[in-house]
Amino acid sequence: MTNALTLVPAPHELDIAGHWIGGATAPGDGPTMEVVSPVDGAVVATVPRGSAADVDRAVAAARAALPAWSSTSPADRGAVLHRLAGELETRRERIARAITAEIGAPIALARAAHAGFPVAVTEAVASLAGTIAWTEEIGNSLVVREPVGVVGALTPWNFPLQQVITKIAPALLAGNTVVLKPAETAPLTAPILAEAAAAAGLPAGALNIVHGVGAVVGEAITTHAGIDMVSFTGSTAVGKRVAVAASDTVKRVALELGGKTANLVLPDADLEHAVAETLAYSWTNSGQACGAWTRLLVPADRHDEIVAALVDAAQAYTVGDPWDETTRLGPLASEAQWERVNAYIERGVAAGLDLVHGGPGRVPGLERGAFIRPTIFANVDPRSVVAQEEIFGPVLSVIPYHSEDEAVAIANGTIYGLGAAVFGERDHALAVAGRLEAGQVYVNGGRFNPLAPFGGTKQSGTGREMGVAGVEEFTELKAIQL
Ligand code: NAD
Repeated sequence: MTNALTLVPAPHELDIAGHWIGGATAPGDGPTMEVVSPVDGAVVATVPRGSAADVDRAVAAARAALPAWSSTSPADRGAVLHRLAGELETRRERIARAITAEIGAPIALARAAHAGFPVAVTEAVASLAGTIAWTEEIGNSLVVREPVGVVGALTPWNFPLQQVITKIAPALLAGNTVVLKPAETAPLTAPILAEAAAAAGLPAGALNIVHGVGAVVGEAITTHAGIDMVSFTGSTAVGKRVAVAASDTVKRVALELGGKTANLVLPDADLEHAVAETLAYSWTNSGQACGAWTRLLVPADRHDEIVAALVDAAQAYTVGDPWDETTRLGPLASEAQWERVNAYIERGVAAGLDLVHGGPGRVPGLERGAFIRPTIFANVDPRSVVAQEEIFGPVLSVIPYHSEDEAVAIANGTIYGLGAAVFGERDHALAVAGRLEAGQVYVNGGRFNPLAPFGGTKQSGTGREMGVAGVEEFTELKAIQL
């Protein structure tokens, strides 16, 4: 039986000795950076802070590995990914502990989702090796899907390994080689991934990892002439910058950006089910999910009843030590994230929004860490700041509507188009789903599917990850006329 104390990594256990270049640890010869626990501000690990020269070395290794890796068969590459899924599974506990240490995800969530999803996604991608149309005959042409080349992958901290896997697994299946820069606040699973990939038989140089900050290593990857494509997941603001910086070398750019998911409850919905699902999708991972359901649109004449049910259900979302097996919500991932989310809650209060649960400030008894109260605002004006901007924390806005057309207009009325949700009688909900501007719509709490394409419309991004589309994104088409 484990307890919180036996789970916490020992001092220096998670330190990262170097980058991962050409199948070996490449000691960082420059400065280092620290990963800090959001529970108490303690230093969790020291990590090399890479430079443009480190990126040069990683790109050279990736280019050297490209001819051999891209000429293996999709079936062989799928077999490597299948083994990688197994190697990640055997390292599940280490992965979970690293993620709890770096971003404060509750350990049970870290095991199930943060460490579990990457296994499922890697396996799902591996299974596509035989189903993608790598070569197609169209009239007198052979249309061939080839790898794009060397892919630069830039990822955020909120699901540290999952965001990495949704890029590198399809990129590798398609025959590309990769240079990855993990998020600087959550880099601790990257060495475990490198170890798992080597154990799975991925050739040296097919996956390279350079640690560091976005402004240095991220920019170097984005602008590097030896990188053919950049796949970025992160904020809309940085994504725009990446797209501009990549244009000088005419790289392919894939962007997975922010969101402001509207969850539209129709009058014919099962309200009890809708309320329970809403809080789970809004607050899991402390609301630090691009697809978090942050706006709940309800019929005006049911508003008060639904808010009362939400407040009642919210009592179960207690905040506590993420190393405790029973904790539902840990801290936010960093002090900077706490400042940001708290400022939004304060703005909501200052704007006179109806605060019905939670609120600003530190959580009593947990003042030393980045703990925040999950918060609900009721009767929210859809044009208000908290209902328009991505907060990336456990803050739910309940917005009343008077007609279905108005509800659809509110749902579509942000710059984002990543996710949406609808609750209602099935055919009715499907019809409304068709009117929503979003890359994915969850009807009556439909479950995440690793074989379905994932991505955004509008300022939530371009391109798709996962499923067949997620692999095709990493391919270039060549038409050979016969
Ligand atoms: P971020 O944009 O600050 O950083 C993302 C990555 O980009 C990090 O690795 C960072 O170091 C790097 N970066 C920063 N500046 C850069 C630059 N100038 N050039 C190149 N790279 C640079 O995002 P974050 O705070 O780490 O993550 C939160 C954001 O990510 C939220 O907006 C969230 O919605 C988004 N997100 C989107 C998805 C999706 O699939 N659409 C998934 C998860 C998170």
